[in-house]
Amino acid sequence: MPGFELFGDEERLEVKDVLDNGVLMRYGFDGMRNGHWKAKELEAALQNKLQVKHAQLVSSGTAAVSVALASAGVGAGDEVIMPTFTFVASFEAIMMLGAIPVLVDIDDSLTLDPKKVEEAITSNTKAVMPVHMCGSMARLDELVEICKNHNLVLIEDSSQATGATYKGKPLGSIGDLGCLSLDFVKIITAGEGGAILTNNEKYYINADHYSDHGHDHKGNDRGAETHPFLGYNFRISELHAAVGLAQLRRLDEFVAIQKKNFTIIRDALSTIPEVEFRTVPEGGVESYSFLNFFLADLDCARRVIEAFKENGVDGCWNYYDNNWHYIRKWEHLKDIKTLYPISQEVKDGLAYLKTKSFDQSDHYIGRNISCLIKLSWTEVEVRARADKMKALILKSI
Ligand SMILES: *Cc1c(COP(=O)(O)O)cnc(C)c1O
Repeated sequence: MPGFELFGDEERLEVKDVLDNGVLMRYGFDGMRNGHWKAKELEAALQNKLQVKHAQLVSSGTAAVSVALASAGVGAGDEVIMPTFTFVASFEAIMMLGAIPVLVDIDDSLTLDPKKVEEAITSNTKAVMPVHMCGSMARLDELVEICKNHNLVLIEDSSQATGATYKGKPLGSIGDLGCLSLDFVKIITAGEGGAILTNNEKYYINADHYSDHGHDHKGNDRGAETHPFLGYNFRISELHAAVGLAQLRRLDEFVAIQKKNFTIIRDALSTIPEVEFRTVPEGGVESYSFLNFFLADLDCARRVIEAFKENGVDGCWNYYDNNWHYIRKWEHLKDIKTLYPISQEVKDGLAYLKTKSFDQSDHYIGRNISCLIKLSWTEVEVRARADKMKALILKSI
């Protein structure tokens, strides 16, 4: 997946542009910048590529989620439904606003189970946030329907699946808001960065102002701008946007390389009857960033991972014991280990995590193996890797 694997002259040229005129900030300094507006240019390119009316760049994917939630008016005491399998960023972004993360089981798509989402809705629920994990997507039709019926905001986190589509639409363009990350290990990178995508004008204006201290961005004198509401600083820099701009132009190329490598490995493993691939919702086309499959049980998955490690097959994980991506090892969340006091409302809201078990998620994550698909492999390397993986799985199961 990581776009940094193919970092090159195009990225260097864009950065050089910014360094040559010296305006590292995305707003203001109109005279000095000689027409260079990398962040604005990248936003326009994202709108075009991901088929949304508005894109707002921010400093990280985590910031994108917080800003998206804030833009839709989600805050203190509101419940936000999110999956048990994601990155810690999901609950961090929710809690930053004083809102309460409500964790819900995943299914064989490795994303939110719509039935479990429906069961988790209360009078305090404000938003549902599917996370399109490992290159594929949540069951978006069902989630759109649930959100419509219950008047909830649908926020897609497509950080790990930029470039994937559902029924012909890019991920991130289907919900009320979409979020993506441009951090260093994502399919396209800006070094650090993220974006909020939306077709909703009000949410966009909110995101635009909120991510820059509440600036209304009217006129060309920053100091004279007004502040219609309180904001914060989640700005991206021109240097980061410049890298992102060059990388976005290569998104199709990256997806095509991933598809080729993914297909070689998938074809090899599909000859093993015990290997069951993750479900991709009908109408979905993956970004091919990861190949995910299930084995019989946790022990079997652990044996295969061990065999991969011993034999130099890197970039494959079983997430059951992972510290960053799965609920089981999030003791810091369950024990609410914050640096600073947080509201009683959030403490009470998180109390369920002390006792709740997520058997259905354990069932899928325990049996799952997730393999990163790299951009820099040669075809010879991918074929050798596929053969080795197949032999090791057959030997270990
Ligand atoms: C990477 C990632 C994020 C956060 O992105 P940062 O840019 O690193 O803050 C959020 N959600 C998911 C699913 C991610 O993989």
